[in-house]
Amino acid sequence: MTDMNMNKDLETGLPDDLKQCIAFHGHFCPGLAYGYLVARGAQKYLGLSRSSDEEVVAICENDSCSVDALQTLLGTTFGKGNLVFRDYGKNAFTIFSRNTGKAYRFSRKTDYVYEGENLEEYNALASGFSDGSLSPEQNARYRYLKGKDLALKPCEKVFDVREIEFERPPYAPLAPSTACAVCGELTMQTKMVKTGSGDFLCKPCAEQKDR
Ligand SMILES: [Zn+2]
Ligand SMILES: [Zn+2]
Repeated sequence: MTDMNMNKDLETGLPDDLKQCIAFHGHFCPGLAYGYLVARGAQKYLGLSRSSDEEVVAICENDSCSVDALQTLLGTTFGKGNLVFRDYGKNAFTIFSRNTGKAYRFSRKTDYVYEGENLEEYNALASGFSDGSLSPEQNARYRYLKGKDLALKPCEKVFDVREIEFERPPYAPLAPSTACAVCGELTMQTKMVKTGSGDFLCKPCAEQKDR
């Protein structure tokens, strides 16, 4: 991977938990750095370690690279159902601890100042980035430099962090499955559409019928 080779020099000085996130996500980028900061912040404010079950819940208001850092460090995963996606397109996250009942919301601040290494190189890449004139390699280098700068900042410098009142979210629902009356595939009944004649249809089949 050109991405990784080109940025080898930058990997020195990265904390081990960040390297874990990179290994899971597949590359290092500013998005992952945002999620890393939120995960670290949540660990600090909520006194968390990795969630073995569902005692930590993350509500992510975007589906960007950042979410993978939360999955890695907080154990809030898509599969366990303690990762809730809200499609708001915001760089904002709420992390809730069932043990303490406390929740914190992290919302990205609008101002950003690069404080990392290779400032001149970064500035040149940043202007290329805004022009859209970067080669794929330069783009990877830009994202790596910015990601590293972000990841090494204190969480509070990048995110507004505040404790919020938060209603305890329900545990991931487990519902019985029923065979769809059209395709026959087992489907969670709570996700199915009931027809006038009382049949349960899966969503794809129900939508097909409407056409
Ligand atoms: Zn990424
Ligand atoms: Zn079906």
